Amino acid sequence: MSQAQPNIASEAFDIAIVGGGLVGASLAYALASQDWRVAMLEAVAPRAASQPSYDDRTLALSDSSCRILAGLGVWPALADSATPICQVIVRELEGPARVVLDPAEHGLEQFGHVVEAREFGAAIMGLLPTLESLQMFQPASVTELEISDSGARLAFDHDGQARTLSARLVVGADGAASFVRKAVGIGAGHHDYDQTAVVCNITPEQAHNGRAFECFTPSGPMAVLPHRGSRCGLVWCLSNDEADDKLAMGDEEFLAAAQARFGNELGAFLKLGRRSSYPLREVRAVADTADRTVVLGNAAHTIHPIGAQGFNLGLRDVAVLAELLADAQRDGTDPGDESLLTAYHDWRAPDQAETMGWSDTLARLYANPGAGARLARSAGLVAHRLFPALRRHTAARAMGYRGRIPRLALGEPLT
Ligand SMILES: Cc1cc2nc3c(=O)[nH]c(=O)nc-3n(C[C@H](O)[C@H](O)[C@H](O)COP(=O)(O)OP(=O)(O)OC[C@H]3O[C@@H](n4cnc5c(N)ncnc54)[C@H](O)[C@@H]3O)c2cc1C
Repeated sequence: MSQAQPNIASEAFDIAIVGGGLVGASLAYALASQDWRVAMLEAVAPRAASQPSYDDRTLALSDSSCRILAGLGVWPALADSATPICQVIVRELEGPARVVLDPAEHGLEQFGHVVEAREFGAAIMGLLPTLESLQMFQPASVTELEISDSGARLAFDHDGQARTLSARLVVGADGAASFVRKAVGIGAGHHDYDQTAVVCNITPEQAHNGRAFECFTPSGPMAVLPHRGSRCGLVWCLSNDEADDKLAMGDEEFLAAAQARFGNELGAFLKLGRRSSYPLREVRAVADTADRTVVLGNAAHTIHPIGAQGFNLGLRDVAVLAELLADAQRDGTDPGDESLLTAYHDWRAPDQAETMGWSDTLARLYANPGAGARLARSAGLVAHRLFPALRRHTAARAMGYRGRIPRLALGEPLT
């Protein structure tokens, strides 16, 4: 890191993206085909182990997310490390209910793919430096933001140097504790689920054959996702005390506990990777736009991972904003114009509200050990088993095909 320097000259951009995590980096890449001058500021140094977005978590990407990434040209860099989801099995571990969702029922070969967040980070961070229209500042932590009628001014610390830049549109993709959201006065509701997700890789005795399992247990949901080769990604949501307990266990003891909860559908659990943990909470911004500002991804909506929807929702934010910006450039409109911000909000608000509501309802229902909640869970699964229309509705939502669909998710070019 260099010594602190006096302020150096401010640079002018059309769009400043604050946060280069999963969502911010995807937006930076999505704008590559447009002629905007774009800055992306990311607080954590490249390839740092502490980068919060590109860690051990396993991401289930919906079919629409895979299409968006393909349309952006990111997919070729991910394809080798992505595992198709060929079947989804939803079951209650201490009850009889079980539903099998089959992509063929929806005219698809797979529901989506599983990718490790770390591999996504390596792929996209390898692509971004090749873009001429993008200037990356990393490590660069934004500390001040002033908005005026004509534009925004951001102050940041870039590797020890105090710097400023101006932009006509500021995008807050800076995570659940978003500095941008607070700086522009957008309030947010917070809910702590008092749960922790314990995440790791396991290798079971039997091949997963592309099956993803979403299991509901009296102490919280457990997902087992197919990975490359014979590995599976385990996401186990537990009360905070139970999670501490599981994290303190030795490997053998943990494997036995996970096996006891999951059962024998994949045979014995043989090997275990490194465990990491995530406290689970919901953050819901009261608005997703303000003057010359959009907040998206976790900055606008941090959700429980039970439905595997967080990044999928954030990617749909990216696809819509990129589409509106492409149209604005064609029409010669200012990227921070109020009409663009209103169009973004009107398009995204229904999907954000519905996806957040769905994830929150599932999280609360499946963390509740009461008899009433258990009955509701079993009834829900039985209804899905009996009614193909209900299965199609749920699958369409999980695959990201509800409401107005952006061009990229339809497989159409952005510009
Ligand atoms: C256990 C778990 C499993 C999950 N599984 C799935 C799944 O299967 N499918 C799915 O779709 N989603 C999943 N998610 C959700 C997904 O991880 C999030 O939706 C995603 O990380 C959001 O990315 P983001 O870029 O919006 O925010 P973040 O990942 O929080 O990134 C924000 C970035 O902004 C940077 N930053 C912060 N402040 C500043 C600042 N002042 N200046 C500059 N930079 C700043 C940070 O360093 C960071 O890089 C899961 C989440 C968890 C916890």
